[in-house]
Amino acid sequence: MDVVKSNVADIWQVAAERLQQQIHVTTYEQWFQNIVPVALNEKALVLGVSDDFFADWLKDNFDDILCDSLKDIEGVDYSYSFKSGFLPEKKKEQPKTKAKSKSKAVKTQKRVKPGNCLSRHTFDNFVVGEENRYAYAAAHTAAESSGLYNPLYIYGGTGTGKTHLLQSVAHHAVESNPGTRVRYITCEEFLNNYVDSLRNKKHSDFRTFVRDIDILLVDDVHMLANKTQLQEEFFNTFNSLYNQNKQIILTSDKQPSEIKGLESRLVSRFESGVATEISIPGFETRLAILRMMQEEHLVKLDDEVLQFIANSIHSSVRRLQGALFRLVAYASAMSVADIDVEQAEHLLRRLLEEETASQLVSIESIQRIVAEYFEIRVNDLLSDKRPKNIAQPRMVAMYLCRKLTAFSYPEIGSAFGRNHATIMNAWKKIPQLCSKDENMRRSVSLLEHKFKS
Ligand code: ADP
Ligand code: MG
Repeated sequence: MDVVKSNVADIWQVAAERLQQQIHVTTYEQWFQNIVPVALNEKALVLGVSDDFFADWLKDNFDDILCDSLKDIEGVDYSYSFKSGFLPEKKKEQPKTKAKSKSKAVKTQKRVKPGNCLSRHTFDNFVVGEENRYAYAAAHTAAESSGLYNPLYIYGGTGTGKTHLLQSVAHHAVESNPGTRVRYITCEEFLNNYVDSLRNKKHSDFRTFVRDIDILLVDDVHMLANKTQLQEEFFNTFNSLYNQNKQIILTSDKQPSEIKGLESRLVSRFESGVATEISIPGFETRLAILRMMQEEHLVKLDDEVLQFIANSIHSSVRRLQGALFRLVAYASAMSVADIDVEQAEHLLRRLLEEETASQLVSIESIQRIVAEYFEIRVNDLLSDKRPKNIAQPRMVAMYLCRKLTAFSYPEIGSAFGRNHATIMNAWKKIPQLCSKDENMRRSVSLLEHKFKS
């Protein structure tokens, strides 16, 4: 057993040395230094990393380099796979040392409940599905192992759970380490507090408020757009915390580079850590969320009704919640024990109409128009054919479905007879193709305008 163990470590050491020669030292420190060689199954190395998000990020960005570094080690080409759940040694020790100083502190220092945070916004109350798995994993790791992903930037549409995750970090950090000073603040509050501090000549109080802390959580940073003075203040706050290795987590409705009116120095700061997208979950997760939310209410709806809601509302979790509240409120006000699907449809008609209106662009219409544009058949798009003249239009259609509708990755996937990962891949690949290929860029933009007009 020992022999195998030392083998794993030896092999990984060779690979790690090769990696260090190839990549920048900071990249190595952030992504490779904490990898734990766990096991060797024949020629396959199992490498321990903190979480799924970390593993996928490494695979997406460094697969080639990793494979190369494992080639020809004493004549053998090794492969690798990742295993989650290995927090970095250094970070593991942190809570211990903190705990020591904390144990004294605890007597005098009561757990400070994070301000501004809803008590139900916890990791336990967050239902994890394919679309929010990475964001959840990254937020959870950031809460446990401060500074590993810094800054962590979570972006996605409205009602996808960004605020919920951010506040979960606050609760978790304070619960696992009561001395932690966590500040959750929306970008708007940041602005208002800043402006008030200028007016009341209490600028240094404001600075202490947002800088004298261990974890800063800022919600909706897209609101910084076009506010020059605020951006300056934010930039300084960011740097001050970042330089002290304090954890910063930001949420936004867009990627940093897509926020118009955001200074490039902030864009590059926001991009310097880890960015992860969160989007509206697929049917099963929506149903799981409804079932969980229903537990908070005395009135219980039929599962058929919950399925009806999960099926009809796919634009936002917030609207899902709204639909549930409406039915529960009706049932308790009218003292009716049972609501059937027909009644639910009637009670929710306005919400459902709005939902349909937001879905004017259907997956089918995108498939049809993309096929016409590239002069192929819709059936080709749905087939397994791989030639470029079919595979690329197929990816364009998948990309546009993701961009122009509120359907989730699994839902779009099933409309193409594929899985969610294929759609995620198209969502990533098309912008890359557009940046390299002028024809592709023009086609995608033309098609997009067609649907928007
Ligand atoms: P965002 O900040 O992205 O606009 P919120 O975090 O405010 O969205 O989420 C909207 C509502 O939906 C909140 O009540 C939140 O608790 C709930 N919600 C969103 N995603 C989930 C999830 N995965 N599990 C449980 N509740 C969720
Ligand atoms: Mg929010």
